[in-house]
Amino acid sequence: MSQGAAGNPTVAMVEAAFQHHGLPWRYVNMEVARDDLAAAVKGAWAMGFRGFNLSMPHKVAVIPMLAGLAQSAALIGAVNCVVRRDGQFVGENTDGKGFLTSLEEVMETKGKSVVMFGAGGAARAVAVELALAGVRHITIVNRNAERGQELVDTLRHKAGVQAELVVWQGDYKVPAGTHAVINGTSIGLYEPEARLALDLDTLSPGMVVADVVFNPPRTRLLAEAEARGCTVVDGLGMLVNQGVIGVKHWTGFDPDAAVMRRALEQALALSPA
Ligand code: NDP
Repeated sequence: MSQGAAGNPTVAMVEAAFQHHGLPWRYVNMEVARDDLAAAVKGAWAMGFRGFNLSMPHKVAVIPMLAGLAQSAALIGAVNCVVRRDGQFVGENTDGKGFLTSLEEVMETKGKSVVMFGAGGAARAVAVELALAGVRHITIVNRNAERGQELVDTLRHKAGVQAELVVWQGDYKVPAGTHAVINGTSIGLYEPEARLALDLDTLSPGMVVADVVFNPPRTRLLAEAEARGCTVVDGLGMLVNQGVIGVKHWTGFDPDAAVMRRALEQALALSPA
């Protein structure tokens, strides 16, 4: 359920999975006004929906309308995926888990040090999931100190990970010993030339550099990091993997991520149909 979103590439991606596996399911995008969310959730329950995704601002507003929350959704304070489970609607957050799946394809995260730019919804989801997966230390680099500190406090006191805030001023220098650098901000979204304030000379070839931005998937940050020999992870993988996890929650079926990525790329006009 989204507020004001007409087209949605996620629909093409999830329906491609249903079709590929011959599952008689439908995934439809519904525009729901803020004041109608409670009625929409009740309607979804009454009509037997197995679940649904939500976009902002519904990700936060839906929480009191649900019977319970999964651990990470509670820590993140947002629900992007609702699942009918044991006779009730439960809130999950699959954004951070989707990112983690992508990241763990290229590195082991347990015991590692991570730098994360941003402290908004996507950064919160990713940072909480990294903490729950056993990352050792997370540095949050954010322009807005209050928002950054709120995330650091959650990470330290509720997710039990070492965390610190750096208020972002000028080009950030990545400390030696950092294993992964993640852009969790919206810098680069629809703006291939947008520059993230980072001293590129502090990136080293052993590092992984990842981006939550999925359009364009090859952001300026990833191109520059790759040129310095870093391993890069794009935001499309996160979007695909959160879809894979959602389909599994709803249907119990593990869909083919490659089929879903192809459908998403076509819907975003990133590759030919
Ligand atoms: P929010 O508005 O919640 O947060 C935006 C964050 O970006 C804040 O930390 C903000 O900093 C920071 N920011 C924005 N512009 C600048 C700038 N010019 N300089 C420094 N910091 C900046 O957005 P979301 O977290 O919801 O989304 C962030 C990105 O994640 C979007 O591009 C979105 O498309 C992507 N995303 C990707 C997903 C995927 O599956 N790949 C899933 C969900 C989101 P401050 O706090 O200082 O304002």
